[in-house]
Amino acid sequence: MPRGLSPSSFGAFKSCPLAFKFSYLDRLPQPPSAPASKGTLVHRALELLMLRSAQDRTIDHALADLTRAREELASDPDFTELVLTEAEWDRFHAEAEVLVHRYFELEDPTTVRPIGLELRLSATVGSVQLRGIIDRLDLVENDELVITDYKTGSVPGERHELQRLAGVHMYALMVEQLLGKRPVRVQLLYLSRPEAIIAVPSEQSVTGVARKTKALWTAIESACARDNFRPHPGPLCEYCSYQAYCPAFGGDPALAEELRGPGTVIAPALPLASSPV
Ligand code: SF4
Repeated sequence: MPRGLSPSSFGAFKSCPLAFKFSYLDRLPQPPSAPASKGTLVHRALELLMLRSAQDRTIDHALADLTRAREELASDPDFTELVLTEAEWDRFHAEAEVLVHRYFELEDPTTVRPIGLELRLSATVGSVQLRGIIDRLDLVENDELVITDYKTGSVPGERHELQRLAGVHMYALMVEQLLGKRPVRVQLLYLSRPEAIIAVPSEQSVTGVARKTKALWTAIESACARDNFRPHPGPLCEYCSYQAYCPAFGGDPALAEELRGPGTVIAPALPLASSPV
Protein backbone atom coordinates (compact mmCIF):
# COMPACT_ATOMS: atom_id res chain seq x y z
CA MET A 1 0.00 0.00 0.00
CA PRO A 2 1.21 3.50 -0.71
CA ARG A 3 1.52 5.75 2.35
CA GLY A 4 0.00 8.73 0.66
CA LEU A 5 -1.55 9.66 -2.65
CA SER A 6 -2.08 12.78 -4.71
CA PRO A 7 -5.50 13.96 -5.93
CA SER A 8 -4.48 13.07 -9.50
CA SER A 9 -3.67 9.49 -8.48
CA PHE A 10 -7.19 9.06 -7.08
CA GLY A 11 -8.50 10.24 -10.45
CA ALA A 12 -6.16 7.77 -12.18
CA PHE A 13 -7.52 4.87 -10.07
CA LYS A 14 -11.05 5.82 -11.03
CA SER A 15 -10.14 6.02 -14.73
CA CYS A 16 -8.24 2.71 -14.88
CA PRO A 17 -7.11 0.67 -11.85
CA LEU A 18 -4.46 -1.20 -13.89
CA ALA A 19 -2.83 1.98 -15.26
CA PHE A 20 -2.95 3.37 -11.69
CA LYS A 21 -1.09 0.28 -10.41
CA PHE A 22 1.58 0.48 -13.13
CA SER A 23 2.13 4.19 -12.56
CA TYR A 24 1.58 4.89 -8.85
CA LEU A 25 2.30 1.55 -7.13
CA ASP A 26 4.84 -0.18 -9.39
CA ARG A 27 6.23 3.20 -10.48
CA LEU A 28 7.06 1.86 -13.92
CA PRO A 29 8.78 4.51 -16.02
CA GLN A 30 6.90 6.11 -18.88
CA PRO A 31 8.58 7.70 -21.86
CA PRO A 32 8.32 11.50 -21.84
CA SER A 33 5.57 13.00 -23.95
CA ALA A 34 5.73 16.29 -25.83
CA PRO A 35 2.47 17.68 -24.33
CA ALA A 36 3.61 16.92 -20.75
CA SER A 37 7.09 18.39 -21.32
CA LYS A 38 5.54 21.49 -22.91
CA GLY A 39 3.37 21.82 -19.82
CA THR A 40 6.46 21.63 -17.58
CA LEU A 41 8.15 24.35 -19.63
CA VAL A 42 5.18 26.74 -19.53
CA HIS A 43 4.60 26.11 -15.80
CA ARG A 44 8.22 27.00 -15.06
CA ALA A 45 8.00 30.16 -17.20
CA LEU A 46 4.88 31.32 -15.33
CA GLU A 47 6.52 30.49 -11.99
CA LEU A 48 9.50 32.68 -12.94
CA LEU A 49 7.09 35.44 -14.01
CA MET A 50 5.37 35.35 -10.61
CA LEU A 51 8.74 35.63 -8.86
CA ARG A 52 9.10 39.08 -10.44
CA SER A 53 7.70 42.18 -8.76
CA ALA A 54 4.11 42.85 -9.80
CA GLN A 55 4.80 45.75 -12.20
CA ASP A 56 7.46 43.69 -14.05
CA ARG A 57 5.06 40.90 -14.99
CA THR A 58 4.78 41.96 -18.63
CA ILE A 59 4.46 39.82 -21.74
CA ASP A 60 8.05 40.65 -22.74
CA HIS A 61 9.34 39.45 -19.38
CA ALA A 62 7.13 36.35 -19.61
CA LEU A 63 8.71 35.47 -22.97
CA ALA A 64 12.17 36.07 -21.48
CA ASP A 65 11.17 33.73 -18.63
CA LEU A 66 10.11 31.14 -21.20
CA THR A 67 13.60 31.34 -22.73
CA ARG A 68 15.16 30.97 -19.29
CA ALA A 69 12.93 27.99 -18.51
CA ARG A 70 13.98 26.44 -21.82
CA GLU A 71 17.66 26.81 -20.87
CA GLU A 72 17.08 25.41 -17.37
CA LEU A 73 15.28 22.35 -18.69
CA ALA A 74 17.57 21.71 -21.70
CA SER A 75 19.35 18.79 -19.99
CA ASP A 76 16.26 17.35 -18.29
CA PRO A 77 15.46 13.78 -19.50
CA ASP A 78 11.85 14.86 -20.14
CA PHE A 79 13.33 17.00 -22.91
CA THR A 80 16.52 15.18 -23.97
CA GLU A 81 14.61 11.91 -24.39
CA LEU A 82 11.87 13.40 -26.54
CA VAL A 83 12.23 12.15 -30.08
CA LEU A 84 11.22 15.12 -32.26
CA THR A 85 12.35 16.35 -35.64
CA GLU A 86 13.68 19.88 -35.98
CA ALA A 87 10.33 21.03 -37.39
CA GLU A 88 8.49 19.37 -34.47
CA TRP A 89 10.80 21.12 -31.97
CA ASP A 90 10.05 24.44 -33.68
CA ARG A 91 6.33 23.76 -33.36
CA PHE A 92 6.80 22.67 -29.72
CA HIS A 93 8.41 26.01 -28.80
CA ALA A 94 6.01 28.08 -30.91
CA GLU A 95 3.07 26.41 -29.11
CA ALA A 96 4.66 27.07 -25.70
CA GLU A 97 4.91 30.74 -26.67
CA VAL A 98 1.24 30.81 -27.68
CA LEU A 99 0.28 29.33 -24.29
CA VAL A 100 2.21 32.08 -22.50
CA HIS A 101 0.45 34.73 -24.62
CA ARG A 102 -2.94 33.16 -23.86
CA TYR A 103 -2.23 33.28 -20.11
CA PHE A 104 -2.37 37.08 -20.40
CA GLU A 105 -5.88 36.82 -21.83
CA LEU A 106 -7.05 35.08 -18.65
CA GLU A 107 -5.73 37.42 -15.99
CA ASP A 108 -3.58 40.48 -15.45
CA PRO A 109 -0.49 39.17 -13.62
CA THR A 110 0.35 42.64 -12.27
CA THR A 111 -2.71 42.37 -10.00
CA VAL A 112 -1.84 38.93 -8.60
CA ARG A 113 -0.46 38.61 -5.04
CA PRO A 114 1.08 35.12 -4.89
CA ILE A 115 2.05 33.84 -1.42
CA GLY A 116 3.04 30.37 -2.56
CA LEU A 117 4.40 28.94 -5.82
CA GLU A 118 4.73 25.20 -6.53
CA LEU A 119 3.52 24.75 -2.98
CA ARG A 120 3.73 21.25 -1.48
CA LEU A 121 0.67 20.35 0.57
CA SER A 122 -0.50 17.40 2.60
CA ALA A 123 -3.59 16.59 4.62
CA THR A 124 -4.87 13.66 6.61
CA VAL A 125 -8.33 12.39 5.81
CA GLY A 126 -9.20 9.43 8.03
CA SER A 127 -6.28 7.04 7.46
CA VAL A 128 -5.36 8.60 4.11
CA GLN A 129 -2.42 10.91 3.66
CA LEU A 130 -3.17 13.25 0.76
CA ARG A 131 -0.21 14.92 -0.92
CA GLY A 132 -0.02 17.36 -3.76
CA ILE A 133 1.57 20.45 -5.26
CA ILE A 134 -0.41 23.51 -6.26
CA ASP A 135 0.89 25.91 -8.89
CA ARG A 136 -0.04 29.07 -7.01
CA LEU A 137 -1.69 30.26 -3.82
CA ASP A 138 -2.83 33.88 -3.92
CA LEU A 139 -3.96 36.39 -1.37
CA VAL A 140 -6.98 38.41 -2.49
CA GLU A 141 -9.17 41.10 -0.94
CA ASN A 142 -9.97 40.68 2.79
CA ASP A 143 -6.94 38.35 3.14
CA GLU A 144 -8.82 35.51 1.51
CA LEU A 145 -7.03 32.67 -0.31
CA VAL A 146 -7.32 31.56 -3.94
CA ILE A 147 -5.76 28.45 -5.49
CA THR A 148 -4.66 28.72 -9.13
CA ASP A 149 -3.74 25.76 -11.29
CA TYR A 150 -2.46 26.20 -14.86
CA LYS A 151 -3.59 23.63 -17.41
CA THR A 152 -1.83 23.33 -20.74
CA GLY A 153 -3.95 20.48 -22.12
CA SER A 154 -7.36 20.80 -23.73
CA VAL A 155 -10.44 21.89 -21.77
CA PRO A 156 -12.20 18.75 -20.45
CA GLY A 157 -15.71 17.74 -21.44
CA GLU A 158 -18.46 18.04 -18.86
CA ARG A 159 -17.91 14.57 -17.34
CA HIS A 160 -14.16 15.01 -16.97
CA GLU A 161 -14.67 18.56 -15.70
CA LEU A 162 -16.47 17.12 -12.67
CA GLN A 163 -13.55 14.74 -12.09
CA ARG A 164 -11.03 17.60 -12.32
CA LEU A 165 -13.09 19.65 -9.89
CA ALA A 166 -13.11 16.73 -7.41
CA GLY A 167 -9.29 16.99 -7.40
CA VAL A 168 -9.55 20.74 -6.97
CA HIS A 169 -11.72 20.37 -3.88
CA MET A 170 -9.07 18.01 -2.44
CA TYR A 171 -6.56 20.84 -2.82
CA ALA A 172 -8.97 23.18 -1.03
CA LEU A 173 -9.17 20.67 1.81
CA MET A 174 -5.36 20.47 2.02
CA VAL A 175 -5.00 24.26 2.14
CA GLU A 176 -7.65 24.44 4.85
CA GLN A 177 -5.80 21.84 6.98
CA LEU A 178 -2.44 23.55 6.44
CA LEU A 179 -3.43 27.19 6.96
CA GLY A 180 -6.68 26.83 8.93
CA LYS A 181 -8.57 28.74 6.27
CA ARG A 182 -10.70 27.51 3.39
CA PRO A 183 -9.85 29.13 0.01
CA VAL A 184 -12.69 31.24 -1.36
CA ARG A 185 -11.98 30.14 -4.91
CA VAL A 186 -10.10 27.54 -6.90
CA GLN A 187 -9.40 28.42 -10.52
CA LEU A 188 -8.20 26.15 -13.28
CA LEU A 189 -6.68 28.30 -16.04
CA TYR A 190 -6.86 26.40 -19.33
CA LEU A 191 -4.31 28.23 -21.43
CA SER A 192 -5.03 26.43 -24.70
CA ARG A 193 -8.55 27.88 -25.15
CA PRO A 194 -8.06 30.15 -23.07
CA GLU A 195 -10.75 29.46 -20.48
CA ALA A 196 -11.01 29.54 -16.68
CA ILE A 197 -13.01 26.99 -14.72
CA ILE A 198 -13.77 28.32 -11.27
CA ALA A 199 -14.99 26.39 -8.24
CA VAL A 200 -16.07 27.81 -4.90
CA PRO A 201 -15.27 25.36 -2.08
CA SER A 202 -17.98 25.05 0.55
CA GLU A 203 -18.52 23.08 3.75
CA GLN A 204 -20.57 20.63 1.69
CA SER A 205 -17.97 20.21 -1.10
CA VAL A 206 -15.07 19.74 1.33
CA THR A 207 -17.03 17.23 3.45
CA GLY A 208 -18.16 15.45 0.28
CA VAL A 209 -14.64 15.18 -1.08
CA ALA A 210 -13.36 13.85 2.25
CA ARG A 211 -16.07 11.17 2.19
CA LYS A 212 -15.28 10.20 -1.42
CA THR A 213 -11.54 10.13 -0.67
CA LYS A 214 -12.09 7.65 2.18
CA ALA A 215 -14.29 5.47 -0.05
CA LEU A 216 -11.71 5.47 -2.84
CA TRP A 217 -8.95 4.67 -0.37
CA THR A 218 -10.96 1.65 0.82
CA ALA A 219 -11.33 0.54 -2.81
CA ILE A 220 -7.55 0.93 -3.36
CA GLU A 221 -6.81 -1.01 -0.14
CA SER A 222 -9.12 -3.78 -1.28
CA ALA A 223 -7.53 -3.90 -4.77
CA CYS A 224 -4.06 -4.08 -3.14
CA ALA A 225 -5.10 -6.82 -0.71
CA ARG A 226 -6.44 -8.97 -3.58
CA ASP A 227 -3.85 -7.75 -6.08
CA ASN A 228 -6.77 -7.12 -8.34
CA PHE A 229 -6.35 -4.12 -10.62
CA ARG A 230 -8.63 -4.49 -13.60
CA PRO A 231 -8.05 -2.65 -16.87
CA HIS A 232 -10.78 -0.18 -17.64
CA PRO A 233 -10.57 0.65 -21.35
CA GLY A 234 -11.62 4.16 -22.34
CA PRO A 235 -10.51 7.23 -24.29
CA LEU A 236 -7.26 7.45 -22.27
CA CYS A 237 -6.03 4.12 -23.69
CA GLU A 238 -4.91 6.00 -26.80
CA TYR A 239 -2.29 7.84 -24.71
CA CYS A 240 -1.47 5.00 -22.27
CA SER A 241 2.22 4.05 -22.14
CA TYR A 242 1.30 0.63 -20.76
CA GLN A 243 -1.00 -0.48 -23.58
CA ALA A 244 1.45 -3.19 -24.77
CA TYR A 245 1.15 -4.84 -21.32
CA CYS A 246 -2.58 -4.43 -20.93
CA PRO A 247 -4.79 -7.57 -21.13
CA ALA A 248 -7.52 -5.46 -22.75
CA PHE A 249 -5.12 -5.14 -25.71
CA GLY A 250 -3.80 -8.73 -25.58
CA GLY A 251 -0.75 -7.85 -23.42
CA ASP A 252 0.70 -9.51 -20.33
CA PRO A 253 0.99 -7.22 -17.25
CA ALA A 254 3.75 -9.43 -15.79
CA LEU A 255 6.05 -8.36 -18.65
CA ALA A 256 5.66 -4.65 -17.83
CA GLU A 257 8.70 -4.90 -15.52
CA GLU A 258 10.86 -4.79 -18.66
CA LEU A 259 10.00 -1.06 -18.86
CA ARG A 260 12.59 -0.57 -16.13
CA GLY A 261 15.21 -1.50 -18.71
CA PRO A 262 18.37 -3.59 -18.41
CA GLY A 263 19.83 -4.22 -14.96
CA THR A 264 16.46 -4.88 -13.34
CA VAL A 265 16.46 -7.33 -10.43
CA ILE A 266 14.30 -10.30 -11.33
CA ALA A 267 12.05 -11.62 -8.60
CA PRO A 268 12.17 -14.40 -7.61
CA ALA A 269 15.94 -14.52 -8.16
CA LEU A 270 17.21 -17.12 -10.59
CA PRO A 271 18.91 -20.05 -8.80
CA LEU A 272 22.25 -19.26 -10.48
CA ALA A 273 24.46 -20.71 -7.72
CA SER A 274 22.78 -24.13 -7.78
CA SER A 275 22.47 -24.39 -11.55
CA PRO A 276 24.38 -27.35 -12.99
CA VAL A 277 26.98 -26.16 -15.50
S1 SF4 B 1 -4.46 0.62 -22.16
FE1 SF4 B 1 -6.34 1.45 -21.26
S2 SF4 B 1 -7.23 -0.23 -20.09
FE2 SF4 B 1 -5.09 -0.75 -20.51
S3 SF4 B 1 -3.95 -0.05 -18.73
FE3 SF4 B 1 -3.88 1.60 -20.22
S4 SF4 B 1 -5.63 2.91 -19.71
FE4 SF4 B 1 -5.97 0.96 -18.68
